[in-house]
Amino acid sequence: MPNNVLPRSMDPAATPKLCSKCGESKDYSSFRMGRTKCKECAKLDRVAYTSNNKVRLRKIRADRYILNRETNIATAKQWAKDNKERAAFNAARKRARKLKATPNWLTDLDFQKMQMLYNISALVQKQTGVKMHVDHIIPLQGKNVSGFHMPENLTILKATDNISKSNSFEPIWGII
Ligand SMILES: [Zn+2]
Repeated sequence: MPNNVLPRSMDPAATPKLCSKCGESKDYSSFRMGRTKCKECAKLDRVAYTSNNKVRLRKIRADRYILNRETNIATAKQWAKDNKERAAFNAARKRARKLKATPNWLTDLDFQKMQMLYNISALVQKQTGVKMHVDHIIPLQGKNVSGFHMPENLTILKATDNISKSNSFEPIWGII
């Protein structure tokens, strides 16, 4: 292929380009197509813009949220319907966060283990037609003690058992 059909960014013979910001002479691959600022400078500018315009950007996001509220809610609802086990996992995590019951030393593996329990629960429910819940063995907000949102404190229950259990956990000698 003759050199004159290569884009300049791929052409080793192309003369370097001067960045309009840092003034450094750089290879064409350091620039996005048609830009005069190098990629590095452009990135620094973006970071600076974001931190200098926090209030403005927050308002834009809030306005956009209000404008698209109905659509967003509908989309989220549909997603939850299509991803039941992920939705249950997320809801439990949100609840646990709110109650500050998620230990900060949990690892990625711990979160994967928890997601797996929600997946199994959904699978059992699908296979048997019996409604299942993933529940905390020691409730996050118990009467006597409060449990953590972590793999060792999760169990899969029939929904009916879960509802009758409610939030009362009687301490068993030897555990607490
Ligand atoms: Zn530059």
